Amino acid sequence: MHIELHSVVKCPECGAFQMEEMPEEALVLAWECPGCGRVIRAAEGACCIYCSWGSVPCPRAQRLARHGSPLPPGALGDAAPYKDPRP
Ligand SMILES: [Zn+2]
Ligand SMILES: [Zn+2]
Repeated sequence: MHIELHSVVKCPECGAFQMEEMPEEALVLAWECPGCGRVIRAAEGACCIYCSWGSVPCPRAQRLARHGSPLPPGALGDAAPYKDPRP
């Protein structure tokens, strides 16, 4: 399964954009815009800046969309299906 690790993040304030490499696991919650210098934060309800402002959602969201788990295949062992902790 291919996970895209690059996302073009676009500033909601000034429209500047920049290609960023996304970490596989960590959620990035703030991004400093190269255009206006503002620190852009993840939108309400989104898990990270890539899911808010990026051309490609973060690796966790990509895995969640494809097979229902934000973790890499086998991360918990095959016998332990991922349970969503949210209500
Ligand atoms: Zn900007
Ligand atoms: Zn995300």
